[in-house]
Amino acid sequence: MQAENVDIVIQGGGPVGLACAAWCLQKFPEAKIALLDRNPISDEDLAAADSRGIALSHGSKLLLDTINAWPNECADIHRVHVSQAGRFGRALMTREELKQDALGHIIRYRDIHLTLRKALRAIQVQSPNFAWHHIDTHTEIENIQAKCIVHAEGGLFKTQDWIESGRDYEQSALVGLVEVENAAPYQAWERFTSEGPLAVLPSHYGPNILNLIWCGSPASSQARLGLSDVDFLKSLQAEFGSRIGQFLKIQDRRLYELGLNYRKEITQGNEVWIGNAAQTLHPVAGQGLNLGLRDAYLLAEKLTALFSKPEDQKTATSIETTLQDYALSRRADRTATIGLTDFMARIFTSNLLPIVIARGLALSALQWLPPVKTALARQMMFGRR
Ligand SMILES: Cc1cc2nc3c(=O)[nH]c(=O)nc-3n(C[C@H](O)[C@H](O)[C@H](O)COP(=O)(O)OP(=O)(O)OC[C@H]3O[C@@H](n4cnc5c(N)ncnc54)[C@H](O)[C@@H]3O)c2cc1C
Repeated sequence: MQAENVDIVIQGGGPVGLACAAWCLQKFPEAKIALLDRNPISDEDLAAADSRGIALSHGSKLLLDTINAWPNECADIHRVHVSQAGRFGRALMTREELKQDALGHIIRYRDIHLTLRKALRAIQVQSPNFAWHHIDTHTEIENIQAKCIVHAEGGLFKTQDWIESGRDYEQSALVGLVEVENAAPYQAWERFTSEGPLAVLPSHYGPNILNLIWCGSPASSQARLGLSDVDFLKSLQAEFGSRIGQFLKIQDRRLYELGLNYRKEITQGNEVWIGNAAQTLHPVAGQGLNLGLRDAYLLAEKLTALFSKPEDQKTATSIETTLQDYALSRRADRTATIGLTDFMARIFTSNLLPIVIARGLALSALQWLPPVKTALARQMMFGRR
């Protein structure tokens, strides 16, 4: 790689890094940006990658629509049924009561990733000062002199090379695609079991093929991963019950370790951290990528406002001030989303009797107190504004 001078370097070509680059270039096509991407150049080589279903909120759809990055292969959620296995308390949220077209959308990670790559390729045609480098190692960043460094290296819990605040929930998520006998179209199920949440979510493959996310202790999740398909389906049926008929098939089982890891300070000098590089969350509330996209959007807004100014105004001080302003603007949304997700991850995995009772009461309150339900749904759909 040739040595080069840029205004902004974005390190990480996952969904958040790509979205940030695309929004920067859309707002300021002349921006001098380098994107460092460890993924292969060819989309074909990514096609077999991560197929887990991700829930994106309506707010994320509105953001991704602005750069034409909404995947075609997507399943809408019209109703969410929340319950506790073997205990009282349930809640049903519908799109009608929340006056939305959909409560959320389920899309495979790889489709989000590929669609964002396509969107960025389309936008970069108008951007003469943008360079997209596919790299192998960390060291190549030294060849680039950047006024501002955006970290979007993402990563999963326990695979990151930094640990700051947070907790290990000592849980794993087993994900896969299940075929069932009789699913209600557009319905998502979230069931809280003694070991953690078990979610069954629509997929774009058809009404009876659903995305499974089954959280449990690392030992039992590992054991479930090793079961034969028949034994796996039997144990899933026992945990979930018969609301959607028989579980008929399971495919593409994968395990992810779960925990919370977040930075208290998301800027330092001319560096800023966004997406999973800033906070890695438990998937119980389906918020990680939604929050990361909001990070990317606001950062792009702040950076382009600064870097579209005359050269003499892009001083080290003005960059640092811009990043501090960004961090301040993200504080309420980050704190609320991290706090709510951590609360849900802990409350819904405890078997202490008072907590079990409180949880049942909370679900009942959600069902019978519409303003509480609406407030929670709005936080999950749009974040804190
Ligand atoms: C089981 C599970 C279910 C989930 N479900 C949901 C959900 O329903 N809804 C939701 O919103 N979120 C969900 N999430 C969270 C979501 O996957 C993440 O928040 C999201 O992927 C973060 O995107 P990112 O771009 O920040 O990081 P990543 O997706 O990790 O991408 C980072 C990219 O940077 C690259 N990279 C790493 N290091 C470097 C480097 N040094 N230089 C260059 N490139 C580098 C990597 O190769 C990768 O491509 C879930 C997570 C898990 C584990």
